[in-house]
Amino acid sequence: MNTIPFTIRETKEGLLAKKFSAVELVDEYLSRIEKNKDLNAFLTISDEVAYKKAKELESNLEDLPLLGTVVAHKDLFLTEGVRTTAASKVLESYVPAYSSTVVERMEKAGAIMIGKTNCDAWAHGASGENSDFSPTKNPWNKKHVPGGSSSGSAASVAAGLSLVATGTDTGGSIREPANFCGVVGFKPTYGAVSRYGVIAMSSSLDSIGSFGHTVEDVETIFNVVKGPDGFDSTVTNGQSLITNRKFRIGIPKEYFIDGLDREVEKSVLTASQVFKDNGIELVDISLPNTKYAIDVYYIVQPAEVSSNLGRYDGIRYGNGRDLFGAEAKRRIMLGTYVLSAGYYDAYYLKAQKVRSLLIQDFDNVFEKVDAIIAPVSPTPAFKLEEKAADPLQMYLADIFTVSANLVGIPGLAVPSGFNSENLPLGFQLMAPRFCESTLFELGKLYQKSVSYVPKLP
Ligand code: GLN
Repeated sequence: MNTIPFTIRETKEGLLAKKFSAVELVDEYLSRIEKNKDLNAFLTISDEVAYKKAKELESNLEDLPLLGTVVAHKDLFLTEGVRTTAASKVLESYVPAYSSTVVERMEKAGAIMIGKTNCDAWAHGASGENSDFSPTKNPWNKKHVPGGSSSGSAASVAAGLSLVATGTDTGGSIREPANFCGVVGFKPTYGAVSRYGVIAMSSSLDSIGSFGHTVEDVETIFNVVKGPDGFDSTVTNGQSLITNRKFRIGIPKEYFIDGLDREVEKSVLTASQVFKDNGIELVDISLPNTKYAIDVYYIVQPAEVSSNLGRYDGIRYGNGRDLFGAEAKRRIMLGTYVLSAGYYDAYYLKAQKVRSLLIQDFDNVFEKVDAIIAPVSPTPAFKLEEKAADPLQMYLADIFTVSANLVGIPGLAVPSGFNSENLPLGFQLMAPRFCESTLFELGKLYQKSVSYVPKLP
């Protein structure tokens, strides 16, 4: 096969028209993975599982929503019989006995799992460099990071090693790597997709989403995986009341600050203009508590991390706690500190109060606008090792993404071109809780207006 499609729809149509077979698709993706080994995007290749699924699909070609969609799962998603490590030596040889809801629903819908992707260990990070199994590299420039923590998933889609990929976004870990790698990344509303069988990072912030080349593809995946499964009590069939008025998009002044890369800024404003040219009103808005978002996130998140990582005691499964890396240890200590008697009120409780103020900021703004447009990260993909030694600098990479998690709203990162160094640029859209349809509509409108054509590095 010399060309394989860039979208779920074309893959499905090609298979149904017998232009190519599912086994040929698997052959092609596996050979690309082999050729791109230096990216270190995968921790485990599930070739046997992939061929088995491909043959099963071919023996009874049905019009399934994800027919033949080759997917790579972040190594935080439990996969029955296939090693799942969270990119940590603690779980280096852990083989789960069941699959997460998302993995199972995608499989039933016709997806083919090709492997498990590299990430920051336990999803702690913004560059992929916290993986215990070496960093992933950015497919557009191997001296740069792909973003994190879902580093391998973003790199895999960008380099064409899988058609789509799954990820988790606790503070930006889907949107930021999507932005750094030039692909679409989607974080749903908190509670729209089950977290069952996904290794927990921070339970009030984790959301389960995906990567693809088009907005239509992440929408298709969302429609397959969303909704209650009986195993995650936060999941509802939440539906927004779709407003019929003309769309308005807000531009928050707090997201265009000193330190924002000029080319990043320009690309977001250019994208806003595309919406304006489509008759959408742009409105200047203010989210005054944005300046506290990182501080709140780095109290609430480590508090929950310290509790969630308590179960890895090396007794029931996995290796001992001595194998936790520096970043996991840092978060366990920070989290334990802010939760301990005497500090709880000063840090954790205070942070939760400011979190409520952030929620109010967004609720106020969403009275006036249907969506918000903003940069994803202050800079394009930075260089490997540029921030690795300075955790504070690394934490600041999330300055524009953590609010959506603290507030629980959906976010969509959309690629919008390249900078002068040929590194990807993009923007993000955020919408009220359960207004994913607004994001999809706007994202598709953008890709259509600019006649978006995906390409491989
Ligand atoms: N970079 C952020 C962190 O390190 C976000 C991580 C995530 O979303 N999983 O906490």
